[in-house]
Amino acid sequence: MSTVSIGPGDDVEAWCTRCRMNLYHRVIALVGNSVRTVHCLTCGGDHKYHPPKNVKASEEKVIQAKTAKVGKSSKPNNRATNKAIGEWTVFMNEMPPGTIPRSYRVSDAYGSREYIEHPVFGTGRVIDIVGAEKIQVIFKEGRKVLICNKSMKPAGNLG
Ligand SMILES: [Zn+2]
Repeated sequence: MSTVSIGPGDDVEAWCTRCRMNLYHRVIALVGNSVRTVHCLTCGGDHKYHPPKNVKASEEKVIQAKTAKVGKSSKPNNRATNKAIGEWTVFMNEMPPGTIPRSYRVSDAYGSREYIEHPVFGTGRVIDIVGAEKIQVIFKEGRKVLICNKSMKPAGNLG
């Protein structure tokens, strides 16, 4: 047991009936060991001693800032396309630095693993020689069979 001796002139925390707050009061009079009358150091009023009330600490309302949801990222929902892009990306990554894809021409001959630039499909790579005049090329959007090595002869020689 801790006995704190309080005497007149001491400051104690008490409930101020005027300020309606727990404030320090100067002890004016005691009865026995009990504080009888106090003097509010805040409002200067003398009143009967009231024990400090268990007032809840000022409620700090924490405003939870809701994190703004990031807009849904638009992803292609075509899995086949995604697979093709992945495959194409691999081939593109294998392209030696400084490689300039050759512009695609029907009349030109292309070799396997050659990089070409198609006016519509973009950059691609020859992955297979299908025939004497056909090559399979992988582009970003998928594999395409292109005509190549086609001698520009007048119509009539179509296979
Ligand atoms: Zn007061």
